[in-house]
Amino acid sequence: MHPFTYHSAGTVLEAVQAAARGARYIAGGTTLVDLMRETVERPDDVVDISSLPLNKIHTAGNGILRIGSLVTMAEAAAHPAVRDLYPVISQALEASASAQLRNMATIGGNLLQRTRCSYFRDVSADCNKRRPGSGCAARGGYNRMHAILGTSASCVAAHASDLAVALVALDAVVRLHGKDGERLLPLAELLLQPGSTPHREHALEPGELIMRVEVPEHPGRLASGYLKVRDRQSYEFALTSTAVALHVTGGRITTARVAAGGVGTVPWRLKAVEDALTGRRPSPGLWSEAARHATRGARPLTHNRFKLPLLTRTVERQLTEIGGTL
Ligand code: SF4
Repeated sequence: MHPFTYHSAGTVLEAVQAAARGARYIAGGTTLVDLMRETVERPDDVVDISSLPLNKIHTAGNGILRIGSLVTMAEAAAHPAVRDLYPVISQALEASASAQLRNMATIGGNLLQRTRCSYFRDVSADCNKRRPGSGCAARGGYNRMHAILGTSASCVAAHASDLAVALVALDAVVRLHGKDGERLLPLAELLLQPGSTPHREHALEPGELIMRVEVPEHPGRLASGYLKVRDRQSYEFALTSTAVALHVTGGRITTARVAAGGVGTVPWRLKAVEDALTGRRPSPGLWSEAARHATRGARPLTHNRFKLPLLTRTVERQLTEIGGTL
């Protein structure tokens, strides 16, 4: 492992200033320490933020939910308000990683976790994300787990977070603290598609820290849930997944939020599916009709064409599940 200095921050400002000078944040350590062991990450300085007061969950009226970035995945999944208001969040968290990891990993770290592309983690392989300009071994290699939406010539890695899929479906924003104070940024704008710069994975300014995630108010209570399809039932990343949140007024769907995971280079909002649902009366025929739009714009690779029909079936099944509760 590359030698590094360790410093525990006592305040948010102290942490932000250290990170602005180049230090890497560490909290649960479940991503960064692995990558440091594999020498994929070689920080000179690490600043520990785990004692900062960012570990609370608050709710307010109309479904507003605020989750501190240092809340662990297990704490958020088990919180009564999260389970009651947004089962899609608790189900996405419980479908992630292992119980041991969920006890350590934080909400902020989960959102910023790096890709599980095996070539990214193999320092002998060409990887534009790890070493810009070196090429992409996955394009001509084994790409069964890779993305079919939002890919580029430079990178086809799938985003690994289940939680981010649920939060993108709920229009969540992140509250950031940087050198110049605080700002809000939609989660969908925080995470970047690879384009020609796959090493740029997020829109954070140098030193910016995620303080909390905020789910905004919704005009009506949402029925929601998360479905993840994977090779085994535990401790495995998604082949496909979907987050669905629906609200019906006067017999018609007035709010439809649908996003997909395991298929995009970022959590992928399925706008065409949402458009097919909005204003319609719930019915079994509608779920299958809307799900057929799930793969719009998808470009499969050599080994992951199976994700096209699998994504359609995943979305239809979860729409049917949530639709049955309306
Ligand atoms: Fe690297 Fe992205 Fe290619 Fe994987 S898909 S090898 S992360 S450039």
